[in-house]
Amino acid sequence: MIPFVDLKAQYRALKPELDAAIARVIENAVFIGGEEVTAFEAEFAQFSEASHAIAVSSGTAALELIFRALPLTAGDEVIVPANSYIATAFAPSLVGAVPVFVDCDPLTYNIDPAKIEAAITSRTKVIAVTHLYGQSADMDPIMEIAERRGLLVVEDACQSHGARYHGKRVGSFGIASAFSFYPGKNLGAYGDGGAIITNDADLAARLKRLREYGQTEKYVHLEKGTNARLDTLQAAILRVKLVHLENWNQARTHNAALYSSKLSVAGFTPPSIAPGNDHVFHIFAIEVDRRDDMLAYLKERGIQGNIHYPVPIHLQGAYREQGHVEGDFPVCEKAAKRILALPMFPELTEMQIDEVVAAVTAFPR
Ligand SMILES: *Cc1c(COP(=O)(O)O)cnc(C)c1O
Repeated sequence: MIPFVDLKAQYRALKPELDAAIARVIENAVFIGGEEVTAFEAEFAQFSEASHAIAVSSGTAALELIFRALPLTAGDEVIVPANSYIATAFAPSLVGAVPVFVDCDPLTYNIDPAKIEAAITSRTKVIAVTHLYGQSADMDPIMEIAERRGLLVVEDACQSHGARYHGKRVGSFGIASAFSFYPGKNLGAYGDGGAIITNDADLAARLKRLREYGQTEKYVHLEKGTNARLDTLQAAILRVKLVHLENWNQARTHNAALYSSKLSVAGFTPPSIAPGNDHVFHIFAIEVDRRDDMLAYLKERGIQGNIHYPVPIHLQGAYREQGHVEGDFPVCEKAAKRILALPMFPELTEMQIDEVVAAVTAFPR
């Protein structure tokens, strides 16, 4: 059996440290906020090469808080990649803004910068980009468009902790960026978790308020906020894991290179790494014919594959009011039918990779 992600292997390797961190929190009996959270924020900001990190309750909460903090009014438009997790679109929707979808690049699956300008109108305020699968979107042309058209950029970096674009960490291009610590992400908590990073001190202070009932101090509420804090327990766990993230990302990159060379020999096209990108391979995905049959075939052989994502956002029931139909964003629609993510985690062995490649190759094409 080869799981899609093996969180047990990671726990076995770090058990003493993780158990001690969990016990420390319980013994201190500080479960909300406290030193663990502020220390994690400082450490994650440093890792991300950003000035501020705000720990929150999930990647979705991170996106929602960012959009609540931006100067948007109902009916404003936000450019959103059609090929992303749906939370990227929900966050602008939550504040009454309208996500305007843009198709993806056929090689990286990230938003296609060449298709952004045609989607911009006089109501557009923000370009939201997702760094999908562990690889940065093509930020140079995106930042150029944003600057020329006077738009803000928000990054959904929920799949790309530690990735770089031309040497620069993802998450540090736009006004603010969202990270998820969902357990299976490159940096995962033992439950839900997330963070926002930004280089804007005022925005950071505002986001900290919004995350905690809009308060400046206990029972003083400057504005309407919510409860979207990261648990202290999760912060303590994430602090232990963050130290290993760079090594884990290297192991993922190594595994991806092994997969790629073996799959190429077998006649498959490996994932594209765009020039100047340090890809951290949250997801290792290839395109195959008869994808659903291949997925079932792998499952019968104890190999767990996955599809990111089977239905593009513009075709989801949640956005039926936009009236999109099949054919509107052909590149991501085609990818949705062909993409297959193979098991990928740092502890994956070459023997396991060989087993996966053998099964993929044995599938009658
Ligand atoms: C995981 C993910 C999210 C949501 O994060 P949660 O922590 O699960 O709320 C948002 N966007 C992308 C691209 C993701 O991969």
